[in-house]
Amino acid sequence: MPDHKRVVQVAVPRPLHSVYDYHIDGDQALPAVGARLRVPFGRSEVIGICINTAVETPHAKTKAIVAILDDDAAIAEELLDLAQWMSSYYHYPLGEVLGTILPSAARKGADFTIKPEPPPDVWCLGDLTVVSPRAKTQQAVIEHMQQASSAQTGDALIEAGFNRAMLRKLEESGALKRQVPDAEQALDTALAPTPEQDHAISQINAAQGFDVFALEGVTGSGKTEVYLQSMAPVLNAGKQVLVLVPEIALTPQTLARFQNRFGHTGMLHSALTDQQRLQTWLRCRAGELRILIGTRSAVFTPFAALGLIIVDEEHDSSYKQQEGLRYSARDLTVKRAQSLDIPLLLGSATPSLETVYNVQRGRYRHLTLLERAGGALMPSYHTIDLRGQTLRGGLSATLIRVIRSHLNEAGQVLVYLNRRGFAPTLLCKACGWQSVCPDCDAKLTLHRQPEQLICHHCNLRFGLPQNCERCGHDDLLPVGMGTQRAEEALGERFPGIPLYRIDRDTTRSNIQLNQQLTQIQRGKPCIMVGTQMLAKGHHFPAVTLVAVINADAGFLSPDFRAPERTAQLIVQVAGRAGRAERPGQVWVQSYQPENPLLQRLIEQGYPGFAQAELTSRLDAGLPPAQPMAMLRAEAFDAPMARDFLLQCKTQLAGSSSESGVQILGPVPAPMARLAKRSRFQLVILAANRPQLHRTLAGLGQPKAHANLRWSIDVDPYDAM
Ligand code: ADP
Ligand code: ZN
Ligand code: ZN
Repeated sequence: MPDHKRVVQVAVPRPLHSVYDYHIDGDQALPAVGARLRVPFGRSEVIGICINTAVETPHAKTKAIVAILDDDAAIAEELLDLAQWMSSYYHYPLGEVLGTILPSAARKGADFTIKPEPPPDVWCLGDLTVVSPRAKTQQAVIEHMQQASSAQTGDALIEAGFNRAMLRKLEESGALKRQVPDAEQALDTALAPTPEQDHAISQINAAQGFDVFALEGVTGSGKTEVYLQSMAPVLNAGKQVLVLVPEIALTPQTLARFQNRFGHTGMLHSALTDQQRLQTWLRCRAGELRILIGTRSAVFTPFAALGLIIVDEEHDSSYKQQEGLRYSARDLTVKRAQSLDIPLLLGSATPSLETVYNVQRGRYRHLTLLERAGGALMPSYHTIDLRGQTLRGGLSATLIRVIRSHLNEAGQVLVYLNRRGFAPTLLCKACGWQSVCPDCDAKLTLHRQPEQLICHHCNLRFGLPQNCERCGHDDLLPVGMGTQRAEEALGERFPGIPLYRIDRDTTRSNIQLNQQLTQIQRGKPCIMVGTQMLAKGHHFPAVTLVAVINADAGFLSPDFRAPERTAQLIVQVAGRAGRAERPGQVWVQSYQPENPLLQRLIEQGYPGFAQAELTSRLDAGLPPAQPMAMLRAEAFDAPMARDFLLQCKTQLAGSSSESGVQILGPVPAPMARLAKRSRFQLVILAANRPQLHRTLAGLGQPKAHANLRWSIDVDPYDAM
């Protein structure tokens, strides 16, 4: 026995205390800090991360580690530091933070060998004379490629309805070629930047070390071109670039823009297998992949030489994880850029108020693109007062007239609505009963084809009742507007005009969405009806009219972020209009068109709106003026959840005698009951971050019943 037991500290993926001491048996070498270790835990074994190899005062009784899985760190120091920081910032156990940032295959102990890269899965046209005109399906692939007029990823072709066997056949015959990322293949050349783009690009390229640029560019101003041209010198210097995009924006089209400019690009999103994720992760870590485009969790990717981070649509809610470790990927990019001492570019047409605030305080540098690239004009706004109007399927006579005139002039029309389904509720005309979810505080939405009542919160489904559940009357009336109803009404009003409904129900698969988008891109007059899926990223050059069916709900919601979110949505949907030669119009229906928030948005645009909204947040002491955290609890038994938060409140108040800390609640959550559980929340506002964190730290490990779920959310995104 050696005199000194050699003891290391290991973070294990378990809640509560997640850091434990273990010793190393015999003459085994010490593991590296950041290496994965298999250790006994309770009655089983888990994989943890070694976080300290020099434990000064070890426990008397420690268990021996079972195995060291890595010779070097699996998590490099930079990310280990980030994890430590997240653990204290989000008040989340270190072992579980590390579990979140590792790809799941790595978490399960997979070994870290990089497999030979599969042949490039990007296709371009080869020798077309070899394809017989009678080979219909092969011809279809070729036609599709010709129409797209750019290289296509294999995934995009599969989504467009073709299959691998066909691609292989066409490759064998030489009609299709794999696009080899580097050499001979002609890559897209950079566009000549507009003066505004040029200014932005040169500012970013002149950055020395850490600097955050907030690129505020109106929709269609060519932010992507700024991204691409800021990346070029970084890549030329042999460094890597991380690009974060919102969940919904990672379409083949987005990827293609980067791939066509720079060649090989890695991609991380939720549809990959664990092994694919791990391989991409390893390639970035080894410096093999120069560009990585990914959604939220790609922020945790290790890089050999990261030189620039770009966050597209930085205001997007998908950057905030809403369960488990509730981190903001956008905020974490600031942290990473800072510790790596590299520039960060946050782009949006509608920046978050957090970003606007940071620009004002001089923390971020402001770059603006006020004009659309390629000479397109910004759309004009018009409101329609719904008071006293008879609506047919939610559409006013004025709106019908406007739609008709745009279709007559060969324009495409986009109708935006925030609710899928047919109607948000079913009402009994005799007694006023409404269809409600038995398990939630929510109405059941009426859907057609098939006819069903669906709870959009817990997903319970019911057949359509013939009679009122309360009085038995059979006169049940759908109330309110959903996308299906708008589709029906528009179909009746505009027979013969192609109509595409784009929401979560019609686009369960990307294939459908891509087929619809391909049709729409052809530019023939048509009407699109859809939810916010339509608002993000898509480029519809032939759309000349965007109609917002109802702008009111968002401006009246009690959630303090609702006006910001609503304005962003309206501006983003409106941004789909008039992106080409023909100027666009935006028509907004409202029961209170004089609403000052809506008026300001229309008259002063997003910057004016954001300024006013920020001022009112500052006046009210809300984020971003004061940091906020939310404690949530839910249980089948309402008092259990409320009492838990009351106990937390006492604890928090005891730990923080400081003035400037406000603890509000507990109050029922906006959705007070969800899937049979009663939900409560406690809001904590502090004068500054250190104060907020001191207060939260005072919570310790509150005792909670096994049936109670609770969480801490630092910088909560929505109040739900
Ligand atoms: P944003 O992301 O800001 O909404 P995009 O990057 O999608 O805008 O660009 C809108 C359109 O303008 C695209 O079709 C793009 O090719 C075009 N574009 C961008 N920059 C230029 C430029 N410098 N010259 C000509 N066209 C441009
Ligand atoms: Zn009734
Ligand atoms: Zn429900």
